[in-house]
Amino acid sequence: MPPFRIAVDRETCYGAGECALRAPRVFGLDEVKKAVVLDPRGADDETVRSAAAACPVAAIVLVDVATGRQVQP
Ligand code: SF4
Repeated sequence: MPPFRIAVDRETCYGAGECALRAPRVFGLDEVKKAVVLDPRGADDETVRSAAAACPVAAIVLVDVATGRQVQP
């Protein structure tokens, strides 16, 4: 099981692409330039956290699967 449940708030996402740049196997941009989760296990935990933290509008939500705690934003 991946360590984080990852969700993208697509209303808030405006396609800056920081997430996909930092973790290109985890995040991608779809045809309307909104972020999608490609593979929650596509990078190590720290890379996923830093990609989520880099979103300028905090559109990426990370929940620690083990604790149920939201760790981002
Ligand atoms: S960094 Fe944020 S705004 Fe940019 S594509 Fe990713 S989720 Fe969307």
